[in-house]
Amino acid sequence: MRHHGIHHVTAIAGPARRNLDFYTRVLGLRLVKKTVNFDDPGTYHFYFGDSHGSPGSILTFFPWEHVAPGRNGVGSTSETAFRVPEGSLGYWTHRFIEQGVEHGALEKRFGQSVLTFKDPHGTSLSLVGVADASSDGVWTESDVPAEHAIRGLEGVTLLVENGEPTGAILTDIFGFSEVAREGSLVRYKSDAAIGSVVDIRSVGGFLPGRMGGGSVHHVAFRSADDADQAEMVRKLAENHGLHPTEQKDRNYFRSVYFREPNGILFEIATDEPGFAVDEAEDHLGSELKLPAFLEPRRSSIETHLPELA
Ligand code: ZN
Repeated sequence: MRHHGIHHVTAIAGPARRNLDFYTRVLGLRLVKKTVNFDDPGTYHFYFGDSHGSPGSILTFFPWEHVAPGRNGVGSTSETAFRVPEGSLGYWTHRFIEQGVEHGALEKRFGQSVLTFKDPHGTSLSLVGVADASSDGVWTESDVPAEHAIRGLEGVTLLVENGEPTGAILTDIFGFSEVAREGSLVRYKSDAAIGSVVDIRSVGGFLPGRMGGGSVHHVAFRSADDADQAEMVRKLAENHGLHPTEQKDRNYFRSVYFREPNGILFEIATDEPGFAVDEAEDHLGSELKLPAFLEPRRSSIETHLPELA
């Protein structure tokens, strides 16, 4: 069965060790894959997610040791949200205080309770309390109790000049429907259990975003397989005049990229083959994995990567 929605979100962090520590220890996510940026193998690429590495649970980072801070603005992804059980927001508020995590006061959006916070490198995040949080995929090998654990991504908020053409791509290509409006915020939802929400906030005359530490680099949407992806590419060209890149093999999925009409980088990633393609599910994230074309350079890559412990 085909499910549409967000496949993963990729952001830029500062030093690798701090990034790894925050997402695995403070947030209690699983390190699903430890690899390098295929286009820049001196940089790690960390994938954090649920115990299966499910599409829709994945937040990935390029940690750059000496990164200048970015700025959220028009044409950027201004927030990435995770799902937690409705009753867990109190636990998380205490945890953030205890761990010194910068966070906001509990707020309401579309009737849901939302706790905003930032990671150590300035990435804008939130926890959204949901009534139907399934415990499938909960990562139990962290010190966050399973009952309060993060249940995958909820979605993203895009900050744009004019949300109409971006919304048209979500509904026409990626299987989302408009479900609600609140002020300048329009909510789109897909049929997936996780990673199914995109909120678009239209704000004219705002400063443009600047890519850097704490910025989201791109948002990837799910396609079931190559044929599904090719059909999306065809419709993007025919109905929207947009021409994605040629397909790139990312080992765990195959991807094409394009800039949506407000300038945000979108990716279309296949659900297959998934993260268990090069290590068993119970060992996900335990070793540095390299694609075949970088394997001959492993020892030099390992020497130059930053220390993690
Ligand atoms: Zn990606």
